[in-house]
Amino acid sequence: MKIHIASHPLITHKLTLLRDENTSSPTFRSLTEEIVSLLAYEAMRDIKTQAVSVKTPVTMAKPSPVVVPILRAGLGMLEGMSRLIPTAEIGFLGMVRDEKTLKASTYANRLPDDLTNRQCFILDPMLATGGTLVSAIEFLAQKGATDITMICILASPEGIAVLEKAFAGSNLSLKLVIGAQDEKLNDKGYIVPGLGDAGDRLYGTV
Ligand code: URA
Repeated sequence: MKIHIASHPLITHKLTLLRDENTSSPTFRSLTEEIVSLLAYEAMRDIKTQAVSVKTPVTMAKPSPVVVPILRAGLGMLEGMSRLIPTAEIGFLGMVRDEKTLKASTYANRLPDDLTNRQCFILDPMLATGGTLVSAIEFLAQKGATDITMICILASPEGIAVLEKAFAGSNLSLKLVIGAQDEKLNDKGYIVPGLGDAGDRLYGTV
């Protein structure tokens, strides 16, 4: 798995504002969009292109990429991603983690049946235990995806290790793009220092 940690002062500055517990939900949402656009720029470094003989010399290859926000917190990243890649198709994957076992399960999906030859971009702000992303990658791989990029705002070292172990030796082409790698997970599976519950910070507690 290729890992890219964005170490840019602009991203670090916006991350500091995200982490601040005094940042309101509306500001949190717009900062998330801005950070994701910056991460998406890196995430799309290997996007497939094809030469065409129309007005512009280069355009995006078909079939178009598929962007998959993991509900609910990944939704907050969709706008920032779509701004950079408006022609991508968007699929949805609803995953929830059991706060006791920290295991992830799928409760909803709206994705193309066949993801063969599709470049997939999974959006999930927090790579914490890694359980959700492992399940999401397996889900897409079962539909034929082999080229999958995960974009996360923050990641824990433990989560990265879980991902690497889960897919060691697999034939999937995986890339992880993150804003920062934080220190550790706490005993509740939250990233420290982190930013709290990303879904709650984006949308309020429900
Ligand atoms: N999910 C979050 O929203 N925050 C964490 O720190 C871990 C998982």
